[in-house]
Amino acid sequence: MKKRELKIFVDFDGTITEQDIGDSIFTKFGDSEKVLPVIDDLLNDRISSRECWDLLCSSTPVIDKNELDTFIDGIKIDSTFHSLVSYCREKNIELVVLSDGFDYYIERIFIRENLKGLKYYANNLSLDNSGKLIPSYPFFNSDSPTSANCKRDHILDNSSDDDYTFYVGDGNSDKESAQYCDYIFAKDGLLKFCEKERISYSPFKDFTGVIKKIDDLITEKKLRKNHQAELKRRAAYIVE
Ligand SMILES: [Mg+2]
Repeated sequence: MKKRELKIFVDFDGTITEQDIGDSIFTKFGDSEKVLPVIDDLLNDRISSRECWDLLCSSTPVIDKNELDTFIDGIKIDSTFHSLVSYCREKNIELVVLSDGFDYYIERIFIRENLKGLKYYANNLSLDNSGKLIPSYPFFNSDSPTSANCKRDHILDNSSDDDYTFYVGDGNSDKESAQYCDYIFAKDGLLKFCEKERISYSPFKDFTGVIKKIDDLITEKKLRKNHQAELKRRAAYIVE
């Protein structure tokens, strides 16, 4: 039998970063009268994430690339994320970042933080010659339309049923996908969702708490597979 591996899937915006960069870019460079109602529609499930990004990009005027890069460079990540990366390397835990935001700023931030090469999946964002934002969605799955980048598919593709999987997230695009993992760390919107739906989770503030909890679970040999997650994984394979 294949040896059980440990995997951890981590959301980017609001989880690794302190603020939601996707939203902030449009709040900063877009037309706020158009941006705020679109984000409100997304947060209240009136539109999908893909529709949200399409609307925000099309309503944003042309952007100067240097200004965009300077703005991204001013955004901090949670400094304790570096400890999680080191801990995972030390313990042989595979870490995969799953974002329903964009590669443009994730790549730039990972280079700045000396994290280049960290595995991640995100939507694609580029600037055309005129400075217009052009989004595309290489991992969209119409079976799972709430997120533009189907995080669930990445979890299934990057783990086997024998593995033990953790999920760390904070928001809308984590609600469905987190349920495919054995153990959920949640804050903010994801935490409220887990409470409401009676999904078991562990609250977290930063990655120090996440590391401590994972380490305790390993030491105390308490990594028990989550039956609900197993059922969901099986159902997803049958549909595919
Ligand atoms: Mg998030």
